[in-house]
Amino acid sequence: AAADDPGDRPIALELESVTKRYAETTAVDGVSLSVREGEFFTLVGPSGCGKTTTLRLIAGFESPTEGSVRFHGEDVTGTPPEERDVGVVFQNYALFPHMSVGENVAYGLNFADPPGGVSKSGRVRELLELVDLEGMADREPDQLSGGQQQRVAIARALAPGPDVLLLDEPMSALDAQLRERLRVQVRAIQKELGITTVYVTHDQEEALAISDRVSVMRAGAPEQVAPPREIYRRPETRFVAEFVGDNNVFDGTVRSVEGRGANGRQRAALEVGTETFAVDLQDREVSVGDEVTFCVRPENLRIGAGVNATTAIVASAEFLGETTRVHLEWYGQELLVRTRDPLSGDVTVGFEPEDAHVVAIDRTV
Ligand code: ATP
Repeated sequence: AAADDPGDRPIALELESVTKRYAETTAVDGVSLSVREGEFFTLVGPSGCGKTTTLRLIAGFESPTEGSVRFHGEDVTGTPPEERDVGVVFQNYALFPHMSVGENVAYGLNFADPPGGVSKSGRVRELLELVDLEGMADREPDQLSGGQQQRVAIARALAPGPDVLLLDEPMSALDAQLRERLRVQVRAIQKELGITTVYVTHDQEEALAISDRVSVMRAGAPEQVAPPREIYRRPETRFVAEFVGDNNVFDGTVRSVEGRGANGRQRAALEVGTETFAVDLQDREVSVGDEVTFCVRPENLRIGAGVNATTAIVASAEFLGETTRVHLEWYGQELLVRTRDPLSGDVTVGFEPEDAHVVAIDRTV
């Protein structure tokens, strides 16, 4: 691993078997996870999966029903937020409307001396420069764009020099273009400071773009915690395979297990509907009769391919610029492909055995 790989650094914060229950809801269900120093760690998942509650437990706005929270190995489960050394940014900028930009940022310093022995005004200048808003100290918040206001909120959260930055959907109120610009800026600021960051979003694309590691959450618990590439290429569950990016998921039955392919890995012949597909098993073991769920990304489902070929019918298409996302009808199931050329009528699609990724095996014996 590279020297600056966060995977080599000490653990900055940790949840151990943390559960948070409200009256009849279990918002967070036995979550254990650790975030390393300087790591950009993202909680992503559908609405209601417990992302915000997890972040609030880290911040100290909520206390767990069970389990513990540790910062640098020290138990902070009962420590109030203001003693946790965290900076928090929420979805709705929450700037003070009657205060200037500079006053808003300085507010973050009200209870703390600026780090590094600089003056308050010096620190405010430094922070506005960091978030690329130099010279804006005297503006009122309503004279700023949404993205600029959110950068002020980040500067305010960073003002006391916190150990951990917590961001809860900071971009969800912004339009798509601004969001993409701001996420690049947020990542740059985080890298410049090397600050441990936990980020909450429901946007899987944003999660992949911005993070060192991603925790895909479902029903109060992580389904998979891994770097973005691994989440995308090797989803561990059907839920992750379907939640992150487009995917085609197939359920098949093992008819035979063949020898090793060119890459030295075993292959299975899987019966899916009336077709039989050859699927690379990666490091999995299967037996004849097992039910196997595997997925193939749209970009790996090739038009006119001879391997694992099958026929589908074009149902609709969305022009996306660089590519077109085509919806195919296939034995009552929808398949997605990405193409450059328009398609219509019947098409032959296929995929390489090694482009199939097994997500679940239901053993019969
Ligand atoms: P969203 O993306 O919609 O904000 P989320 O993944 O952040 O969702 P949470 O806000 O953490 O999810 O909520 C998880 C579950 O806990 C939900 O079912 C929610 O209704 C419930 N919940 C959260 N806070 C409370 C509360 N204060 N009282 C009761 N139930 C709550």
